[in-house]
Amino acid sequence: MKRMAKCAVCGEYTMNPAHCGKKAKPAHPPPYNPNDRYAKYRRAEKGIL
Ligand SMILES: [Zn+2]
Repeated sequence: MKRMAKCAVCGEYTMNPAHCGKKAKPAHPPPYNPNDRYAKYRRAEKGIL
């Protein structure tokens, strides 16, 4: 699958390097939920299972 880009002007996702006459920013979908990650670390530090 091709890298998606997000237009900074209209906020739409596009496959094109440009949108609305401007450069589209690369979209970086997070592979995990940061909240879950921190919650996991917090639980591990406190030893709570
Ligand atoms: Zn656009």
